Amino acid sequence: MIPTKKNVDLSLLHPRFVKRLEAFFGDPRISGRVRITSGCRTYAKQKYFYDGYKNRKAGFNLAANPDRRHGPKALNGVGIWRGSWHMEQDDGFCYAVDFGLCGNGIKKWEVNNIAKEYGMHPTVKGEWWHHQPRKSTEWFDAPALAHAGVKEEVKEPVMDWAALLRYHAVLTAEIRTNPIRRKERSDRVKVLQRRLGALGIDCGKIDGIFGWGMKHKVRKFQRINRLTVDGIVGPGTWGEMWGDEPLS
Ligand SMILES: [Zn+2]
Repeated sequence: MIPTKKNVDLSLLHPRFVKRLEAFFGDPRISGRVRITSGCRTYAKQKYFYDGYKNRKAGFNLAANPDRRHGPKALNGVGIWRGSWHMEQDDGFCYAVDFGLCGNGIKKWEVNNIAKEYGMHPTVKGEWWHHQPRKSTEWFDAPALAHAGVKEEVKEPVMDWAALLRYHAVLTAEIRTNPIRRKERSDRVKVLQRRLGALGIDCGKIDGIFGWGMKHKVRKFQRINRLTVDGIVGPGTWGEMWGDEPLS
């Protein structure tokens, strides 16, 4: 179990990062003394924070521009990383969490030293709490895991584009006869949540549950795109989400 403050979302963290966090929080020096105070965000949520900050709205702190590109350049000339490391990257994962102390049982510098053993470094100057398992070019070493004989997957997952296209085609065909609607719990709801997030409508935790909140988000998408506003994802709404038409 990874301890967090209320409402902290870890659903988009890279699985290798999650493994490191589990091992870290299982360490008796850390257990009960540290918790996560900030986890991952969708693109839409980051944009919400950034817009609030930019427009100097009350209660908004410094937030990275979600469209800022950094790191090594891809073939199209832009950096392969975007916005904040807390934010969902192009590979669908987030790579940062913030730690907080629970009481006085441990010092900040001790947390930093132990976190490093598990391959998590404070990468932002002046922010002891901000931890990443990697920098833009490589993952940090995790000597504690190596020592415990934990085998980490070293290779990055390779995108199987053919399989993804096939999966999308299957979903598109399915939706023709079986639209996505309220009360559904499934992987295709997760796809829907991620897609809406990428289009600027934050669906919160990627949990695969289509509740009233999701219905509201789908209605919002339909309103913006001048579709029939019924909160049901049928072929028209689904097609609009994946077409070339911009959102606004
Ligand atoms: Zn942070």
